[in-house]
Amino acid sequence: MIEYKEVKISRILNPTGIDLGEYVINPFMGCEYSCLYCYVRSNKVISKRQGEWGSYVDIRINAPELLEKEILSKKPKCVLLGSTTDCFQNIEKKYAITKQVLEILNKHKVYYNILTRSPNIIEYIDLLKKGFCKKIYFTINNTSPEIKNKLEPKSPGFELRFKSINKMLDENIPIVPYFSPILPWLSDFKNIFELFPKAGSVEFEGLNMNLININDIISKIVSLHPALKSGYEKLLQDKAFYDSFWASIKKDIIREVIIAKKNYNIYIHNFGTYFNNKYSPINLTK
Ligand code: SF4
Repeated sequence: MIEYKEVKISRILNPTGIDLGEYVINPFMGCEYSCLYCYVRSNKVISKRQGEWGSYVDIRINAPELLEKEILSKKPKCVLLGSTTDCFQNIEKKYAITKQVLEILNKHKVYYNILTRSPNIIEYIDLLKKGFCKKIYFTINNTSPEIKNKLEPKSPGFELRFKSINKMLDENIPIVPYFSPILPWLSDFKNIFELFPKAGSVEFEGLNMNLININDIISKIVSLHPALKSGYEKLLQDKAFYDSFWASIKKDIIREVIIAKKNYNIYIHNFGTYFNNKYSPINLTK
């Protein structure tokens, strides 16, 4: 059960260090999709909000009104939508906050990048074709339904996401399939480029083994695949093994890239540094 609440905020354009915009815009606080490996769970400010991540969504109903004002004073050239939420989650259909945000950005000729995994975005193709959408990074994966149901049970299905990406590509929307996270021994990226014939590139990100809830993620994987327990434990504890594992994944991806003659980008998290979380040994099967 998700708790939805209308809230008013004091600022919508927030400065960011992410190199996809000078400011981020998040029309909601919280996310219905509740992905277990969502990095927002490790965000210390957001985690202060009462409630389990995925159990609430605050709807920032005055976001459009604020944006109109802040654009005039801050004069952004490019912004990022959806750094800590999915702007196109289902509640957007009722409130159309993101829709209004896109209309305002288009009107003021502000460019934007978008992060999402929601096929609902195809409802906004007309707005995205106005010339100010720079890039949409659309998160996908390719794992068994059982693993998906364990790790992102409330997110849209992969097949639907693949179809949405291809529909957007057909409409010449600048969309990049973003394969994330690569789950060791579980994510299948073989022939991934064939799934998106019109995509100029595909980007990849490895599982971040330093997420605050990594133990929980691994417990869920091991509950379905007990044979992977030792491999995941070694990835958590052994830097040499970790580095050689991801180096071999990179090689596998590059092999696919060469066959497909496409562009790509691969992001692998450094061993033991992201968020500086400490690994505490646990019983992975509990
Ligand atoms: S869709 Fe994005 S913001 Fe929402 S829970 Fe998943 S990773 Fe987090």
